[in-house]
Amino acid sequence: MGFGSGSLMWFRKGIRIHDNPALEFASRGSSHLYPLFIIDPHYMEPDPNAFSPGSSRAGLNRINFLLQSLVDLDVKLKKLGSRLLILHGDPNEVLVRCLKEWNIGKLCFEYDTDPYYQAMDIKIKDFALASGIEVFSPVSHTLFNPMEIIQKNGGKPPLSYQSFVKLAGDPPSPLLTKYSSLPAVGHLGSCDISEVPTIKDLGYEDAKLEEFSFSPFKGGESEALKQLEACMKDKMWVANFEKPKGNPSAFFKPATTILSPYLKFGCLSSRYFYHCIQDVYKSLPKHTSPPVSLLGQLLWRDFFYTAAFGTPNFDRMKGNRICKQIPWKDDDKLFEAWRDAKTGFPWIDAIMVQLRQWGWMHHLARHSVACFLTRGDLFIHWEKGRDVFERLLIDSDWAINNGNWMWLSCSSFFYQYHRIYSPTTFGKKYDPNGDYIRHFLPVLKDIPKEYIYEPWTAPLSIQTKANCIIGKDYPMPVVSHDSASKECRRKMGEAYALNKALNGLVSEDDLKNLR
Ligand code: FAD
Repeated sequence: MGFGSGSLMWFRKGIRIHDNPALEFASRGSSHLYPLFIIDPHYMEPDPNAFSPGSSRAGLNRINFLLQSLVDLDVKLKKLGSRLLILHGDPNEVLVRCLKEWNIGKLCFEYDTDPYYQAMDIKIKDFALASGIEVFSPVSHTLFNPMEIIQKNGGKPPLSYQSFVKLAGDPPSPLLTKYSSLPAVGHLGSCDISEVPTIKDLGYEDAKLEEFSFSPFKGGESEALKQLEACMKDKMWVANFEKPKGNPSAFFKPATTILSPYLKFGCLSSRYFYHCIQDVYKSLPKHTSPPVSLLGQLLWRDFFYTAAFGTPNFDRMKGNRICKQIPWKDDDKLFEAWRDAKTGFPWIDAIMVQLRQWGWMHHLARHSVACFLTRGDLFIHWEKGRDVFERLLIDSDWAINNGNWMWLSCSSFFYQYHRIYSPTTFGKKYDPNGDYIRHFLPVLKDIPKEYIYEPWTAPLSIQTKANCIIGKDYPMPVVSHDSASKECRRKMGEAYALNKALNGLVSEDDLKNLR
């Protein structure tokens, strides 16, 4: 085997035609091009034991978004005289079979820093190289190559945004290749190729689908580029973008780009996005700067990718050298109340409903619920919250999600644990009438605005008039925020002192005083 004239382009993320160096290389000088996507049962097949519809690794909204993205890619490939080949099974096994059957000389796929792919790619590369197949696996999911940044920093990832930005410089320009056609797909041999499956083809039942609330965001490169163009058209908005000033409760017209799901699956190239922002900046006399600017948001993404790539056990507290060791409490009842939008705090519950229904929420909304679950009120482990986000977000991203959960729980990167988001007053600043709550929690829609953030304080006559009795139609708060947050601050103080002591920075006497 080996030295064949065909190329295999293995799509995993990077589900796009534009700025796709692996695709460009695969299509150059090849007699045949095999564009392949492997449906990994692990990722796609229904798991009846999961807490919400979906597979063992992803919620249904993200699976649906991925399928829409694949359909879009297939349509685009067909316009270029090719098509997307879908195979089902363990990616390693399927790929090896294809390499053997299709007389492949070049195997091309985007480099992926996630541990799941890192482990898989070692095996695939070994097999390909032993078989005389050339492997091309460029970094194109992120602006920068995390490995290079780590090398520039003496072998360790920079752990502050400022130091990251200083090291990073400018990212490579995106490829602006425009294809008029692609090499034809060659002989398929005995491989059992199918079209992109539907959700039903994957085994999700009709009955369950009827009840399911699908995200309003549609997957695919076409949607991504449309959304990007719409954002870039409003040049003043791009130039004046300041993340902390955005309104987390805006849902008809959200305050940010909502491009994260497209970046997650690589329907949109982050380098192309960066390049478009720079074009806007060049056309105007002034613009905002990182960390709050729109360009600065893309740098946050790369910051977390670099930190994650250079930190062993980044996705857990134990064995993670950058994560503070905090004795989080185990309380399934409180955790489930948070997960299932039943905390009795409408601001928190509305955000958790938006997560389930849309698979996306504004960054500050994510802040609110992550803080509430961990160091703000419930003192529950960030890994439990991370798991829920990982499943339900359509933009769920291994590096960014873990990094932000550590940030919000004051386990790493950010340490001002006394600054807690109030579950009753934070949302009110942006949305005094509670329109966001009324939309995502219709049970509260007739509660007067004076009580919408704290409905348990409404007199019974008002609850009755609003058809919502607190404790019956909507839960009582699971904790008192004042006392719970005070207790959380105390425990965080203790944990921080202990962490310091373990690092040899506090004397034994200080420790005794704490006990
Ligand atoms: P915009 O403000 O329009 O920003 C543009 C892009 O910049 C985003 O699409 C995203 O790729 C990147 N970006 C923005 N903010 C951040 C940030 N804080 N960290 C890293 N990249 C950022 N984002 C994910 O993409 N996937 C996740 O799994 C994820 N989990 C999160 C978990 C928690 C607890 C928190 C607090 C935040 C999380 N974020 C995650 C970061 C952030 O909330 C989203 O990227 C952002 O809200 C997406 O909306 P947008 O595309 O409109 O963002």
